[in-house]
Amino acid sequence: MTVSPQFEFKNGTLHAENIPLPELADTYATPLYVYSRQALREAWSGYARATEGRNALICYGMKANSNLAILHEFQQLGAGFDIVSGGELARALAAGARADRIVFSGVGKQSWEIRAALAAGIKCFNVESAAELERLADIAREVGVRAPVSLRVNPDVDAHTHPYISTGLKENKFGIAIEDAPELYAWAAQSPSLQIVGVDCHIGSQILEIDPYLDALGKLLDLIAHLAGRGITLKHLDLGGGLGIRYHDETPLTPTQLLDPVFRILAERGLDHLQVILEPGRSLVGNAGVLLTRVEYIKHTEARNFAVVDAAMNDLMRPSLYEAWHDVEPVTPHSNTPDRSYDIVGPICESGDWLARERTLSLDQGDLLAIMSAGAYGFSMASQYNTRPRAAEVLVDDTRAHLIRPRETVQQLYACERIPPA
Ligand SMILES: *Cc1c(COP(=O)(O)O)cnc(C)c1O
Repeated sequence: MTVSPQFEFKNGTLHAENIPLPELADTYATPLYVYSRQALREAWSGYARATEGRNALICYGMKANSNLAILHEFQQLGAGFDIVSGGELARALAAGARADRIVFSGVGKQSWEIRAALAAGIKCFNVESAAELERLADIAREVGVRAPVSLRVNPDVDAHTHPYISTGLKENKFGIAIEDAPELYAWAAQSPSLQIVGVDCHIGSQILEIDPYLDALGKLLDLIAHLAGRGITLKHLDLGGGLGIRYHDETPLTPTQLLDPVFRILAERGLDHLQVILEPGRSLVGNAGVLLTRVEYIKHTEARNFAVVDAAMNDLMRPSLYEAWHDVEPVTPHSNTPDRSYDIVGPICESGDWLARERTLSLDQGDLLAIMSAGAYGFSMASQYNTRPRAAEVLVDDTRAHLIRPRETVQQLYACERIPPA
């Protein structure tokens, strides 16, 4: 059993939908990111079902995977987008996104990014500090528009996730301390170049429990009530992204399990006029992709058995960065060699360059492996470290494969570099 029904074994070979992975490796070489269009659609439909008949907007947290083909798929399905940079704004628009469904998050928005987003006419800026609020007001005044504003508040709740992907605690750099929010809302309310439209939070990623969300919601609702008392009303409430996925044996929340109580609580508090926004990233794409890689060398040392593969931390950074666990599936399992405990490592000159550790497998040189659940924060975090061209990306639709990004060439990697005169 794999973690995704779109990546299953048929006749002893792992497939992406109805294409055997070895065929894709032959055509496009490895390392290769392979995505399933059906898996994207099914992940989306979970959110579509959970919001059916509701005043809600799902803004794909596009930093999880920002290939234009993926963005276009979600755009066609009705998604808005949560962006965190001017680059992501350009990408979203290039993929056909509607500006009035784009929300802009991030602690360090630069002036050019704010200008670009104002020019595009985005739905809202998720403002993360007093200084940013002032800058936004200044630029909007200069341009002669009113900037739509939501304050990203930090509700100080523990999402019980990895410290690097926890964002809603007091010590995190994100958001505005919830105690400081009323004063900033009051300041924004009297600014002629700002228009208050909402409130938002994003408390972390790979969240598996509902309590942190409901704790955050409770704090946001108290804030909303306080603001209403001061004559400040909002149009939307954005709970951010963060729903977890199954990498190993986790039992993630479904969008319905998260949203049903949210809608119920809003109704109880007489706040069902508020549009509910979510910003899911990982849960829309994580299990829709695998990283296909080939074993270059088997190396037995006194302490360890290594399978040196052609993918590395530059292709998939999560294990190095967060000690993340990804399932490793031999694409055509065999028992030609005895089962041993392997560390799956890449060719990069860093001891942190590993993809999986202590996995009991029967492996030969030349075998193909699928690193599962690599659709989120895989390619989008990839680098060219060690002058390694970034992998190609393929989107599979039933028996058809679409190359959605060719492998980079080595020459492309230094084409822009200049040697100065002596
Ligand atoms: C990263 C991010 C998201 C998406 O998070 P996931 O855990 O991938 O769902 C949503 N909103 C903001 C502000 C983010 O930074």
